[in-house]
Amino acid sequence: MTSPFITLARPAIQSMQAYQVGKPIEEARRELGIAHFIKLASNENPRGPSPAVLAALATAAQEINRYPDGNGFYLKQILAERHGVDAAAITLGAGSNDILELIASAYLDSDTSAIYSEYGFLVYALATARSGAESIVVDACDYGHDLSAMAGAVKNNTRVIYIANPNNPTGTYTNHNDLVALLDAVPASVLVVLDEAYCEYINKADYPDGIALQKRYANLIITRTFSKAYGLGGLRVGYSISDPMIADMLNRVRQPFNVTSLSLAAAQAALDDDGYLAESVALNDAGMQQLESGLSALGLNYIESAANFITFETPCLASEINQQLLQLGIIVRPVANYGLNNHLRVSIGLENENAQFLQALTQILEPLKADK
Ligand SMILES: *Cc1c(COP(=O)(O)O)cnc(C)c1O
Repeated sequence: MTSPFITLARPAIQSMQAYQVGKPIEEARRELGIAHFIKLASNENPRGPSPAVLAALATAAQEINRYPDGNGFYLKQILAERHGVDAAAITLGAGSNDILELIASAYLDSDTSAIYSEYGFLVYALATARSGAESIVVDACDYGHDLSAMAGAVKNNTRVIYIANPNNPTGTYTNHNDLVALLDAVPASVLVVLDEAYCEYINKADYPDGIALQKRYANLIITRTFSKAYGLGGLRVGYSISDPMIADMLNRVRQPFNVTSLSLAAAQAALDDDGYLAESVALNDAGMQQLESGLSALGLNYIESAANFITFETPCLASEINQQLLQLGIIVRPVANYGLNNHLRVSIGLENENAQFLQALTQILEPLKADK
């Protein structure tokens, strides 16, 4: 019998499923009896946090009996200066995931629709579904967003278009010209959310400067995070840059103290530590090359990635390869929930972690080769 607590929920929630996260490493360790796992599953910075951040956290910890500054005054000030924007344009969130949800809470309901790409970051589908709005999913083009098709999919009731640049889980990115063409094509009443969670890693001449474009297009919202290149995934802090009136709407729906005092202090310290960021990006560049050449040597196709992970094709069902990698102590991310049943996503790790992943993959693929 269906529980009444399902049918009592809002219809939009009844048809949803919760976001699936990986098992805690401790649990995997216990189940598989493996002492040391290499975790390449969540696109985290593999270097550990910056020492400057750890020092700032120790200081901030002295005052965790106090509520945080609900406006994040100092962090906004630093961000405003760094990006050349007004502090009133900035909204802080518990991770940029929070911001993506705030946009849905403020602008989507059952009378509206939102557009995102096939293989687009899963949170867009979740935020849209939760709001009760219609999801318009536009077919991908070579695993990337098809921006002209997305612009063409706009309906009268469309309020939001979500674009990940680069996208997770495919690592594809959208170039300046395609983005500008979309911004020129869609009505100003449609909010275009440009999710730049991995922008620190990308070094391409045609990668759009989202913040500069935001100054030209008032309906553009840029989201950023401290979870990836800045190494603060566990602290949950991100932000958006938007028209100040959009920021006002987002601030109306957010929790008054959505970003903790520790997160605020850590983010400020992280922004100050340019060395950590530069070293992280350099490590990622080297790791990307290492994984690309390793995958190529194994004869595996991969989707060219501009981020800190790479999604590759598996010669048989990805779930089987994933299981065998787990047995060998390597945790990667299956992407079947994106409709990619023959791909796995691996985050760029430290050099020795990448090497151990490639070695495990070689070991797993060896008997498959012999079969052919
Ligand atoms: C990881 C990720 C985010 C951000 O996550 P937060 O930790 O909530 O900031 C946002 N968008 C994409 C595409 C991501 O992969």
